[in-house]
Amino acid sequence: MAKKKILVVGSSNTDMIIKLDRIPKPGETVLGGEFVIAAGGKGANQAVGAARAGGAVTLIARVGRDMFGDQAVAGFAQDGINVDYVFRDNASPSGVALIFVARDGENSIAVASGANGRLAPADVRKAKKSFAGASVLVMQLETPLETIQAAAELARQAGVRVVLNPAPACPLPDALLRRVSILTPNETEAELLTGLTVDSDDAAARAADVLLARGVQTVILTLGARGAFIATCEDKRLVPGFKMKAVDTTAAGDIFNGALAVALAENKALPEAVRFANAAAAISVTRMGAQPSAPKRREIERLLAGGGKTSRRRK
Ligand code: ADP
Repeated sequence: MAKKKILVVGSSNTDMIIKLDRIPKPGETVLGGEFVIAAGGKGANQAVGAARAGGAVTLIARVGRDMFGDQAVAGFAQDGINVDYVFRDNASPSGVALIFVARDGENSIAVASGANGRLAPADVRKAKKSFAGASVLVMQLETPLETIQAAAELARQAGVRVVLNPAPACPLPDALLRRVSILTPNETEAELLTGLTVDSDDAAARAADVLLARGVQTVILTLGARGAFIATCEDKRLVPGFKMKAVDTTAAGDIFNGALAVALAENKALPEAVRFANAAAAISVTRMGAQPSAPKRREIERLLAGGGKTSRRRK
């Protein structure tokens, strides 16, 4: 099967990770950590996740004219990602994230966005011709909202489905939500967008209903190890996650979104596409780092074929 075209508009960061026993509290110093540098940024993670899952990916992003930008672009090219629209910024450095990962897999992240903050609607318009023939556009919220809106509008004109991962959470205008085919919040993001607590399948369904009423076509609420909850006007159901030993959950959501885009582009039915995304994300939590943790297509297929234990329903 020919690879399907996936567009990703979003951020690219270099992650500087310290793995340690526990995450330091404000004012506290914790010794004994282990340091790793890995390519990250939600947009770039989703692009790499999609490329390794089997998509033909074009990334629209902005990095600085510095060593981190050079390394990021070289990494994308190695994954076969089209970097024609990864712009180099003269004024701002590449984005950087400082990440703590605790022994239990929990994380805490601070980001200096740099060039990501300067990804402009004009940049997306320069990539206009790549919207033709694309199957899915994937975006998140680490780049300016006006740029995301501009990309969503180009996608509408070209008939391209839009997957929006509303992370990090921020209030979103209904005009944007109406352009979104699939919104993929995690529990925290769904709570911020709806004002509702998401602590059960019923609560997930209620939160999803609020988002559907605002114009989103489909909501996929990711629930960590439990998997993901699918909600459309006709259907609501949990697609259980795979049971894994989590080492680092950084980018689980990003890998989920990248793999989901590929499965949707290949016209898999929604529950099957979500199961594919659950499998990709489950493999990613067993490995350190954002982009280094993204699995290849054959690894995802192996987990799916092996059945892999799925987690039990909670409520
Ligand atoms: P985010 O990383 O954005 O906070 P989630 O924590 O909901 O989002 O994780 C996204 C997806 O990653 C989940 O829907 C699930 O498929 C997978 N996942 C996350 N944590 C685990 C885990 N501990 N074991 C297996 N799969 C996981």
